[in-house]
Amino acid sequence: MITLQGKGVSGGIAVGKLTFLERTHYSIEKKPITEVIAEIERFNAARETAAVQLEELSRTMAEKIGKENALVFDIHSMMLSDPDFYQPIIDIIENQRLCAEYAVMEAGSALAQDFADMDDDYMKARAVDIRDVTNRVIAILSGTWMDAAAGSDPVILAADDFSPSETAQFDRSKVLALVSRAGATNSHTAIFARTMGIPAIIGFGPSLSAGLAGTIAAIDGETGVLCVDPGPELIEEFNKKHEQLEEERQAMEKYRGRETITSGGKRIQLFANIGSVADVEAALLGDAEGIGLFRSEFLYLGREDYPDEETQYESYKRVLEEMKGKQVIIRTMDIGADKQAGYFGLPEEENPALGMRAIRICLTRPELFKTQLRAIYRASSAGNAAVMFPMICSVTELLRAKAIAAEVREELGAQKIAFNEKVPLGIMIETPAAAVISDLLAKEAEFFSIGTNDLTQYTLAIDRQNDALSEFCDIHHEAILRLIKLTADNAHKAGIPVGICGSLGADKTLTKFFIETGIDELSVEPASVLPLRKVIAKL
Ligand code: PEP
Ligand code: MG
Repeated sequence: MITLQGKGVSGGIAVGKLTFLERTHYSIEKKPITEVIAEIERFNAARETAAVQLEELSRTMAEKIGKENALVFDIHSMMLSDPDFYQPIIDIIENQRLCAEYAVMEAGSALAQDFADMDDDYMKARAVDIRDVTNRVIAILSGTWMDAAAGSDPVILAADDFSPSETAQFDRSKVLALVSRAGATNSHTAIFARTMGIPAIIGFGPSLSAGLAGTIAAIDGETGVLCVDPGPELIEEFNKKHEQLEEERQAMEKYRGRETITSGGKRIQLFANIGSVADVEAALLGDAEGIGLFRSEFLYLGREDYPDEETQYESYKRVLEEMKGKQVIIRTMDIGADKQAGYFGLPEEENPALGMRAIRICLTRPELFKTQLRAIYRASSAGNAAVMFPMICSVTELLRAKAIAAEVREELGAQKIAFNEKVPLGIMIETPAAAVISDLLAKEAEFFSIGTNDLTQYTLAIDRQNDALSEFCDIHHEAILRLIKLTADNAHKAGIPVGICGSLGADKTLTKFFIETGIDELSVEPASVLPLRKVIAKL
């Protein structure tokens, strides 16, 4: 037996024959032409046919996987009429006097490469869309079309990567799971697979060799494990897990689209945590009622320099728009400690978790803070935004942060830039100091969100990064539960809501305690929303 490890992007178990996707191979010749006008007309006719196909695909897929997910086909359709797409193709036909198939392939590959080279992960992942549109037009020109998932028995389908068109057109009854060498988490392969409930693992690299074709494999889309030739006992194990997951999934589906409410009638807001624009997809798929924590610092990580106001504005705006009026709580950057960005030039520290981090950086470098706040306020017109400050320890810190936010509002007002003046300003309660003085902080904050990850770290004096201390890390320690209760009581005395956005929020053994304590909102990983709604409904 061989075990391969990839990145699980759509949960579920599958056991079946590993089959590599056979694509109809187009032999694209660099064929010279003499009738330039006729060739351009042939290309334009193929574009029109492709647009009709995409319109039909968008309509049928909207019924199968929902309007939002089928939107990609409308985007493909728009690409067809975008001069950035078609003009370079016409140029090749005209100037080099070469056939349309070749021109589409050449220009399409160059455009796809431009996208693949972009820094932004979302834009990078769009390269696959360009290739998809390109292949569609070539297939129409050459009178062939991809033969996705041919064959009679259901299989685990393997490929370098899958295009959205392929993924969407698979006959669900023939595809047990998708596995690929490449692929990004926010690729459409991953999104469609999750939406359609097909287990999927991506990123195996060359280990997923074509030599494995025809072998029996068992996969776990959650852990990202693929076992080749698993043997009867392991197959039995996978099958058992499959049955169990299926039962759980069925039981959970009936909670989709519902309010989160206890059997006694107490309403809880069940939100999701995200770290990027791309995560919104998962939050919506998970049926989150809002975003309780947008870890905005991820916009600053993995870059060479600070993201400018415009870049940030675009990201916040997109999240707000995609959440369509549901609340989005944007946490101002929590850079420092385990989230370092070299260009910040922060000094080396003996104890980074106790060092220059989060609001401390923002208060000592107000220009940076103001850029972020300006971007958030400007985006605030696009939806239901709230802002929260991380790592607050004192009322003074909160007042200083609020004063800077007020300055930003004034500046935007003076510049006549539209924004929502009433964006609620809340704080994270993630230091014992903040929990202990939560009565004082509640007078100045419009909401609290308890960050139990850091609250645990600082209360128990246990570095959250240090696995060696796990035996000492009692996540249910009475001290933490008391601080949560104290915070909730003080919030309610002051008439402000309180949520939990740390990992403890998804701990089902504490759900009853949270509800009894009067927690108003729980923000968890997207996949935990439905299971938690089910638990709450039974309370
Ligand atoms: C927390 O500390 O609980 C929290 C939600 O913030 P982060 O995990 O990003 O530090
Ligand atoms: Mg934290």
